[in-house]
Amino acid sequence: MLIAINYHYIREHFDAPYPSIFGVTPEDFSLQLDVLGRSACFLGIDDIVDIVDGKRSLPDRAVVITFDDGLKEQYEFAWPVLQKKGIPAIFYAITRPIEESFVTTTHKIHIIRAYTHPDGLLKHLQAVLAKESLEFSLPDAHKAQKVYRYDSVENARLKFFLNHVLEEKQQELVVGQIFHKAGFDQASMSNELYMDKCMTAELAESGCLGTHGHAHRPLGLLDNENALSDFVTSMNKLSEWTGLNVTTLSYPFGFREACSKTVAHQAERMGIKFAFTLERAGNMKIDAPMFMARFSVSDIFNAKRPGNIEEFWDKVTHASWFRYS
Ligand SMILES: [Zn+2]
Repeated sequence: MLIAINYHYIREHFDAPYPSIFGVTPEDFSLQLDVLGRSACFLGIDDIVDIVDGKRSLPDRAVVITFDDGLKEQYEFAWPVLQKKGIPAIFYAITRPIEESFVTTTHKIHIIRAYTHPDGLLKHLQAVLAKESLEFSLPDAHKAQKVYRYDSVENARLKFFLNHVLEEKQQELVVGQIFHKAGFDQASMSNELYMDKCMTAELAESGCLGTHGHAHRPLGLLDNENALSDFVTSMNKLSEWTGLNVTTLSYPFGFREACSKTVAHQAERMGIKFAFTLERAGNMKIDAPMFMARFSVSDIFNAKRPGNIEEFWDKVTHASWFRYS
């Protein structure tokens, strides 16, 4: 069985005026690797490609560590820990931020929320929506908390509204205006937040780089032309910067509708050998390499379960998305 575990933010501390960016410290990351290493072996890109190609079999208990979004802190804080321990991992970069000093809408929302009082954010949001003549009603709490299970009800509803109720163009417009109003500079924030081209080249050279798309768009929800263009741009940029072709994809957002068979087929034609969704499940076998399931680190390690994963291995369910149709 292969368990994939996804990380986002890796920071020495998570203090912020309104804490809303959550992640793992380098110390906790190191401890988590030690816990995982006691019950499983770690696989990297080449190992998984060999399994997909039938050149080797899947170990009884294997783990792959992944990082989405190409954040600089992943390179600065997690990469040295992995190198020291000799553990492989996969870093899924987004290319537009690196190319254009751009900040994705998702990350703009994280930053705004960390530095703006929730009431202030709601006011900014209502003002911008009124100006743009857009309707505003917060979504159902249950629906929102299904997606944002680690957020408070109000935060989950706000995040769900910004991320999933507004259409992509509206979202970009609304969030962009709030980001600007709150006084953030996109270029300097982008340079602070994301890896640079040299970092991607080093990770590719070490066999640890994958693509997370160009502009962090939900590929499965886009029309074919837009999805293909976003994906191809990311592949081309990465090969231009690294001199190598990446062979793995992490679907941006990772929820079911953000992934699709059409995107998977296009990606396979471009040389992608396997891809990760964010279906919270294990991969008992590699029966659909373009739709491998993956957990978020907080599904496995949290305050209530400080590193006891034996039970987790026993109870884990098998990936099912896109298997039966
Ligand atoms: Zn992402």
